[in-house]
This record gives sequence, structure tokens and C-alpha cells, in this order.
Amino acid sequence: MNLGPTRAPKRGTTARAARGTAARTGAGAVKADAAKREQGPGHNTRAARGMSARAKPVGADTSADVASRETLALDVAATLAPRAGRRASTRNPRARRADATLADTARRQTHITSGVASAETLAAIRQALLAHYDRHARDLPWRRTRDPYAIWVSEIMLQQTRVDTVLRYYDRFLSRFPDLASLAAAEEDAVLAAWSGLGYYRRARLLHAGVREVVAHYGGVVPKDAEQRRKLPGIGRYTAGAIGSIAFERCEPLVDGNVARVFARLFGLDTPLGRKDTEAALWSLAERLVQGPRPGALNQALMELGALVCTKAATSCKTCPVAEHCSARRQGRVKQLPVVLKKAEPVPTALVCVLLFSGSRLLLTRSESGLFAGLWNLPMRPGEDRAAAATLLAELGVRAQLPPRRSAVLEHVLTHRRLQLSLYTAALDGHEPRPGLRLQPLSQLSELGISSLTRRALAAATPGPLFDQLTVE
Ligand code: SF4
Repeated sequence: MNLGPTRAPKRGTTARAARGTAARTGAGAVKADAAKREQGPGHNTRAARGMSARAKPVGADTSADVASRETLALDVAATLAPRAGRRASTRNPRARRADATLADTARRQTHITSGVASAETLAAIRQALLAHYDRHARDLPWRRTRDPYAIWVSEIMLQQTRVDTVLRYYDRFLSRFPDLASLAAAEEDAVLAAWSGLGYYRRARLLHAGVREVVAHYGGVVPKDAEQRRKLPGIGRYTAGAIGSIAFERCEPLVDGNVARVFARLFGLDTPLGRKDTEAALWSLAERLVQGPRPGALNQALMELGALVCTKAATSCKTCPVAEHCSARRQGRVKQLPVVLKKAEPVPTALVCVLLFSGSRLLLTRSESGLFAGLWNLPMRPGEDRAAAATLLAELGVRAQLPPRRSAVLEHVLTHRRLQLSLYTAALDGHEPRPGLRLQPLSQLSELGISSLTRRALAAATPGPLFDQLTVE
């Protein structure tokens, strides 16, 4: 069933936004549950790298270090101002307004790069963050390793997904695929089965493709070079920076949703998140801030601050380690920042879905594109009534006697769609063998990558001990 392109979690910039914001995993919710969208705590690392958090001293920057690092900074103002100048000559009023906006942005960014975020301020912020992180960072399993593969897995899992959800899958996934070679050698079905329940399965497919490319082109070793890393499937600027800084201790920046929120408040960025100029400013600041000792810990300290102290819902300014440098706090604008563009509401989509049983086996379908691409699903198509269900059977080449009524209706919310599913349950009389169709024993469902929507539909339409084996979120 192709309902048009699906969107994977954003890579790069605010890719892991949801560690502090609502995350919609593939696991939707029945209407009553729809409000319980997952909150994304931040992620991070520090940890138990064989030493107590307090044991590691916080390095202070020397002025020479700072001066040389400053030359590395991307100066957003320098990028934007010439563009503003070039366009100012136009007579088009709309373009003039755009020029004015651009020039205004350039002025603001100049202020940021040369004023609020001076080298000395950044050095002080860096030191405060590291000290706070050493004292307060959470002990999480991916913080106990420098293995780039394990960090890669954790970063992909954490995209759009809460830390406590990832905690249920991370160790299990690594037990199943303990190293890059084992994941590269695995069948896609096995990978998706291990990912089953985490949602956003495209992540798992891209991770799988990425490790295969590392085996094929880099001898099975995750490249230290950031550009090579960023060319791997599923790795954007954010993930590349996370692996580079945490696994390799390289001064590579990252910006996720937590970092974006902290920067917007800390440096008083009042352009909306997600806009190009804002993104440029955020990455510029991240680039400058990470140029110092312990870049991995610094990046994680920033994300941890956004996850626990400077959260979307509340701020703990009194205990914030960077409060004395915070522009929003100083100006009483904590509640106004960051500026967030209103998100489009998920589009309502009516689907009809038929559960077709042949004894203890269930008919599943798989498509390589569209919604839930690559996963095994219950047959479904647009529509909501019995006629639509009959059309679905005809399209599949399946014979079955449909009941007069639906067995259940459920709502499943994805990032961009609000699916309204009408479920019909029937006994399968026969079907033509076709690629992308299979009868799967119910006892062996967990061996396949099946969508969370399929799990929920099974539980909703046929409640009982038979489906206790399924993890339904
Ligand atoms: S002082 Fe408050 S608003 Fe500023 S960074 Fe800290 S927690 Fe956020």
C-alpha cells in the first residue's frame, strides 16, 4: 500500500529532537492513548568509562587554544551579509523585504558570534558544562563504551525515541548483533525483527545498509574521517558528530533538539527553529563550543542539560550550570524561547485492514515502498467499509468470506498521518501465490520484522492469550 512518501526521522540538525520533545514512534496509540506521545529525554554519555565521574578533572582552555579555535568558527554573519548586500539592489518589493530580513538576521548573528558568544564566554560555558556533566550525568549503557559501532546503534535508536524506550532494546540488539560484522551479515528480516517495537524502521534499514558499506569499503572499521562517515547511509551531520566526538574524541559539533533549545535560550536566538539561518547559527555555535578538551563529554553535557535542566516543559535555572551566561534568563525570555514554528497536524487517513487466518497462520504482506516499507504487515488499503475490504481481497487475489461488521476500529498516529483503521477478521479460503505475500505461523511472528501497527491491530481484533507473546505498545 503506497500512501506517498513516508518521512524518516530527520537526520542532522535537530534530528533527535525528541529527546526533549514529543516523539512519535511507529507505535501509535488507540484514541485514548494518542495524547501520550513519547517525550524524549535527552541522551548522552559520560560515564563509567572505568572512572568515577568526579575523578576526571575539567580541563580549562588556554587563551592560545581559544584563539586558534576561534579561527575555525563558521561566522554566519560573514556568510549572510554579502548575500543581503547583493540582493539589496533589486527593485522587487518582496525581495527588498527579504533583504531586510536577511540583513537583520546577519546583524543578529554578528552579535551572537562576536558579542554574547565571545571566546571567553564560550570557554566559561564549556568549563561549566563539563563540570556539571561530571557530577550529574546519567549512567546509561551506551556511555560505558567508546565502540563506534555501539555508539552508532545507540544514536540511531535514540532518534525520535525516548531514552527509557531505547533502554529496553539497546542491550538486546547488541546481544543479537554484537559487532558491525554480525549486523552486516544479518538478513534484513532478522534486523527488523530485533528492531520490532522501536518504530521508524527506516532507521534500522539505513543502519543495516550503513554497516554493510563500512564492511564493503572501510574494512569493517567505522571511518574516523567525518566526511567519509557522513556519506554512509543513515548518517547525517548530527550522527556523524556524535560518533566522531564520543567514540573518537574529535572536536566535531552536533545539534539535536535539546542542544537547539539550550542554545536558543542561552544565546538569545529569536529566529524560529528549523529555519535555515537559525540552523546555521546553531551549528556555528556548536562548532565553536566543541573546540576544546573532551569534545565527546562536552556534546553530551549539552544534550544532557537540554534533557534534564533546560527542558521543553520546564527550566531549572536555579541549578543550571550556565545560568550566569544565559541571555533568556537575563532578559526574562525563558518562556518565549526557543521560537518554534507551528507544526502541521497529522493528516487523517482512513484505512481498511483485513486479518486473514488459515488455522494458526496469518496472511501478511510486504512492500518495498510506501508506508511501513520493508516490514511485514496485515493487508490494508485506503477505505473504511466492507466494500473497500472486498476490493482489498480482490487486489491481493485472496478468497475469504468477509463478516458484515468490522471487528474493531483503532487509531494509530504517525508523525505525519493519523491513521483510522477499520479491521475485518476472516478465515482464508485460498490465495494465489504472489511475491510479497506469506502465511506466517502465529507462533513465529517474532521472527519477522512486523510493524507496530500490525501488532496493535492483532491485539485489538483478536484479544486473548494467543497474542500475549506480542509486545503491544
Ligand atoms: S539558565 Fe535557564 S533558560 Fe538558561 S540555559 Fe539554564 S535552564 Fe535554560
